[in-house]
Amino acid sequence: MPAGAAKPDSPAAKSAPQKAMEKMGLRRDIDLALHLPLRYEDETRLTPIGELRHGSPAQCEGVVRDARVELRPRRQLIVRLQDDSGELILRFLHFYPSHQKTLAAGARIRARGEVRGGFFGHEMVHPTFKSVDDATPLATALTPVYPTSAALPQAYLRKAVASGLTRAPLQEVVPPHLVRPGLPSLREALHALHHPSPHTSWGDLEDRSSPAWQRLKWEELLAQQISQLMARRERAKRRAPQMRATLGGLPEQLLAALPFELTGAQRRVVEEIAQDLARGEPMHRLLQGDVGSGKTVVAALAASVAIDAGWQCALMAPTEILAEQHFRKLVGWLAPLLEARGQCVAWLTGSVKGKARKLMMDKTASGEAALVVGTQAVIQDAVQFAKLGLALIDEQHRFGVAQRLALRHKLGDEVVDEVGGSGDEPAGCPRLEPHLLMMTATPIPRTLAMTYYADLAVSTIDELPPGRTPIVTKVFADNRREAVIEHIREEVAVGRQVYWVCPLIEESEALDLQNATETHAHLSQAMPGVMVGLLHGRMAAAEKAAVMSLFSGGQMPVLVATTVIEVGVDVPNASLMVIEHAERFGLAQLHQLRGRVGRGAAASVCVLIYTAPLSDTGKARLRAMAETHDGFEISRRDLEIRGPGEFMGARQSGDALLRFADLQEDSALLQHARAVAPRLLDEHPAAAQAHVQRWLASRVEYLKA
Ligand code: ADP
Ligand code: MG
Repeated sequence: MPAGAAKPDSPAAKSAPQKAMEKMGLRRDIDLALHLPLRYEDETRLTPIGELRHGSPAQCEGVVRDARVELRPRRQLIVRLQDDSGELILRFLHFYPSHQKTLAAGARIRARGEVRGGFFGHEMVHPTFKSVDDATPLATALTPVYPTSAALPQAYLRKAVASGLTRAPLQEVVPPHLVRPGLPSLREALHALHHPSPHTSWGDLEDRSSPAWQRLKWEELLAQQISQLMARRERAKRRAPQMRATLGGLPEQLLAALPFELTGAQRRVVEEIAQDLARGEPMHRLLQGDVGSGKTVVAALAASVAIDAGWQCALMAPTEILAEQHFRKLVGWLAPLLEARGQCVAWLTGSVKGKARKLMMDKTASGEAALVVGTQAVIQDAVQFAKLGLALIDEQHRFGVAQRLALRHKLGDEVVDEVGGSGDEPAGCPRLEPHLLMMTATPIPRTLAMTYYADLAVSTIDELPPGRTPIVTKVFADNRREAVIEHIREEVAVGRQVYWVCPLIEESEALDLQNATETHAHLSQAMPGVMVGLLHGRMAAAEKAAVMSLFSGGQMPVLVATTVIEVGVDVPNASLMVIEHAERFGLAQLHQLRGRVGRGAAASVCVLIYTAPLSDTGKARLRAMAETHDGFEISRRDLEIRGPGEFMGARQSGDALLRFADLQEDSALLQHARAVAPRLLDEHPAAAQAHVQRWLASRVEYLKA
């Protein structure tokens, strides 16, 4: 049991509220102390009944004149409370005999609630109340109201926090000269926030600008910066193979084989990656670029550098269909070059089974397969590499946090020495681990990259290949479906292809959604003689592959699909994308979907169909999609709408990354924390450790994902 833990750890002993607290991450005293109020109630003063104001909360004290149960218009308890200045009605629509007992005529009662103007004067509906005597003291501080859950009563949590706060070790760990000047101590700050004096300005408490809030935010940002720095330094100590491109080697051959020239942006990021690969420390780089910016060829070039240097490369996509679609071209370029060197490409997806699978695994283990392509099946424990030197992950944002962590651990284990052993070389010999390159089409706003990914190098492709015609985005109401179908007929007539995307088929939601199956039937009927395909996540892999190959081969003009095509499908002849129930998709998701068209020279259109009625924000979102085509701008707007926690997929894991600080608003604090983190770590390593422990304890792993 960790020192200072609030409660014993035996599961049998836990009550429901205790379990609810643990679920909220409130385990240690310090966790409780750092659980800050949402708002406050003022129980420090009494308002004479005669001075009550309609519409505002107040606390009064008086004597019950009478209490009676009325049956009309419904059963309710009506209590008349009187003080020297007037009379107030307390009205209870739900009540127990115990209420009636406490609120009997003659009792002295303190009641708190919202004041309403009733028919007979002021009243409070369902006030909180207690019986008092002349000596019952008033609260001396504002009463905190904490964020809580249904299973955790406010009063229970309030007590737990109060005692956690008294027990938690709150001594200063950061030396005073490194603390941002003008801030109170942590202890002072926490006491001020949990139990603010009645004289504290409400404005300060609410807009989080008070020195106490600043201190908390600064501490939080500092903890985060330190943990990132530690992770980065940790990596710098680890070793990875040094890979240098040779003259006339595989990368050059690949470049010569490409049917196009690299864009300037592609050349720049290839150079950045090559520099990482040539260094002896593991690369940990994110390659971001808008949909269609040409990340795959950059990955291929990175792979060719690794293979040229004598290492194996693993290339992974989040789903099987993506792996196929995504890498077919790349493999088409690389395979002939590899064959000439007596090497090959191995496919390792879930659908490669039996003998074929065994063969692929053998080739991977022997090193004959220089490139291993697939889903995360590639890094399953059963798959052994002869000498894995580089792992490439496409669409990394589609992998969950847990998957990314598992991958990291696996890569950490995938240690080889220069001659191809598997990690059991004699001590003292440097152990090498693979380089890691992740790709994403969901650009990370700069401020986020700076904080969450301080441990990650970022390369950005900020230029699209030439010859792309911009996509025109149109917004249509559901009732203009026929006009959309007419548009489809026109495209098909001139030999172009069309995607029609529906939200995912979920049985629970199926009722009000026009799902892919129905749309497919409707389109087939509306366009006799045109092959309309259907693709959704519940189809068998072989079936999906068959449909995809008909569509990418051009025989199938129209494809109705759920979001399985969201990323990675590349059919340059597709010029129209229809997205149904567009209001149900996130902006970044819409942008990615839209990126599936406009890949060839033909003018392309994206039609967003929404189902009325649409809220104002809903309209604004779709309008934003029609107005901007810049993925960075779109993800900025998405961030505004949804907030960073959700942006990072953190909400899924129930663990917001930053609780108090706001990256935009608190950038001054962030800058300070960034500057202090290395000094603290260098000059006071124990303090740095203690600070991270206090703030992040169980989150450290998560932040590294
Ligand atoms: P994404 O970044 O979305 O993964 P892809 O790598 O799939 O983009 O590239 C989109 C399309 O652009 C592919 O057909 C690819 O072959 C093509 N492409 C990539 N780079 C260039 C380039 N420099 N010039 C022309 N076409 C390119
Ligand atoms: Mg891609």
